[in-house]
Amino acid sequence: MNLAALLSFLFSVLMLPDIVRLPIAYLLPAVAYLLLFNFFVMYLVCHIRKLAVYTIPPIFFASAITSYFYGVYRIKIDKELLFLLLETTTGEAGEFITTELIIFGAIALLLTSILTYLLKHSSGKFNGKVVAILFIVLLPTTFLLGKYKKNPHVRVVRPITATKYIFPYSVITCIAEFSGQYFENLTQGERESSAKLPSIFIPQKKPLHIIVVIGESARADRFQINGYPRETTPKLIKEKNLINFGGIQSFAAYTRLSVPAMITPATSQHPESTMSSYLGLFKKHGFKTTWISANDRFNSNDTPTTKAIGDVDNSIFRNSLGNVSYGEFYDAMLLTPLQETLVANAQHNQAITLHTRGSHANYAARYPEEFKKFLPDAYDEKMQPQQVSNAYDNSILATDSFLASIIELVRDKNAVVIYSSDHGESLGEEGRFGHGNALAPEQRNVPFFIWYSDDYRKLNETTVDTLKKHVGSSLSHDVFFPWILNLGGILLPDTNQPVLLSVTK
Ligand SMILES: [Zn+2]
Repeated sequence: MNLAALLSFLFSVLMLPDIVRLPIAYLLPAVAYLLLFNFFVMYLVCHIRKLAVYTIPPIFFASAITSYFYGVYRIKIDKELLFLLLETTTGEAGEFITTELIIFGAIALLLTSILTYLLKHSSGKFNGKVVAILFIVLLPTTFLLGKYKKNPHVRVVRPITATKYIFPYSVITCIAEFSGQYFENLTQGERESSAKLPSIFIPQKKPLHIIVVIGESARADRFQINGYPRETTPKLIKEKNLINFGGIQSFAAYTRLSVPAMITPATSQHPESTMSSYLGLFKKHGFKTTWISANDRFNSNDTPTTKAIGDVDNSIFRNSLGNVSYGEFYDAMLLTPLQETLVANAQHNQAITLHTRGSHANYAARYPEEFKKFLPDAYDEKMQPQQVSNAYDNSILATDSFLASIIELVRDKNAVVIYSSDHGESLGEEGRFGHGNALAPEQRNVPFFIWYSDDYRKLNETTVDTLKKHVGSSLSHDVFFPWILNLGGILLPDTNQPVLLSVTK
């Protein structure tokens, strides 16, 4: 019984970041419920000795580490987070390993070892009365909390009373959901090529260059061109051939869901497309196709994005671009391979996609010295809102410069540059940080704009005029796939996606 009490206490302590946020009037009953609920579960589990010895210590350790990230960075715990960890490069993970985390991890490990010892050597009689009393108290309370979860009072205490959020149940659910999804992914076959879609190509008089830039964690309202008072896009604001659609709705709040949906014929209603990217259709119509990524390519267990690219003429990933370490890699380093590609295929139509790291956390590591404009900037375990926000804005400033450099490379060519981000980012809204919460509006409102060269305008007047007509209308990533193809002169006669140009019959 003592052991169950200790476990209940330890698991409840992991909820401290949420406990301290509770209004004082709710504190006592909510914490009492949490302790009793945990005690009840632990008491039952402890009496199935073998199960307890092998499950409680690892689950405690996993919960403790997760609670650290949740407490410090407010990262939401769900199955997507585990996929993220699985697909995260060691470099990316390294940015989060701090002295504090190491100390915290060491304490968690020590506690885990003590728990293992205690569980192995514990004895005690099973007291049916205790279970019965707790059952009588907890059953109606739990039932009512679930039934009235939308009640304003219940909502206040949900962060520490709903099993969806509390340790260790949130971790267990998340591992279970992750495993299910993981095996489903394993058994999934190759994606069907988008080239199979019926399409018509309108040839250009001059070689056409379509460049798509996929941003990362960039939210629309932090772009000066969208009305943000800080000068975060001083270069783009001067581009007269830029058609800006403001903030549009992303498919999801996670890269691994959003990017594959953006580049394939997915829709908001059916975001799980099983086809490969638009590059397949470009290739079918004779374009040279290239994918250039600031992310790494993995030999086994590739990311959903890499799997969705499909068959392209050339693909270049960060880890094939020389010896720059992950932490010192900036999007601007993609400009050299981009320029080389543009030169190599100068006489051909070509479609190039750049997948960037944009404003992904750690924001302060996304830009070199020259973009340290908003100060002080930092993204560390202190998570000081103003410093985090400054670092974020500096990352947008770096994106502005990166996009302006791309435009410069194709200014005197027949070219289009399309930019949007996969999802947005929370910067402290209601205590939220990061992304992964599809219900948070700031994580779904992303920038979207298209730049065209003077040559492109001369050769595609109708297309440019049609684009301009959509400025001000509420758009979503549903338009991403069909518009990119339409801008390249590829029409889709049978599609039910929101096209820019339709086939005249
Ligand atoms: Zn992302």
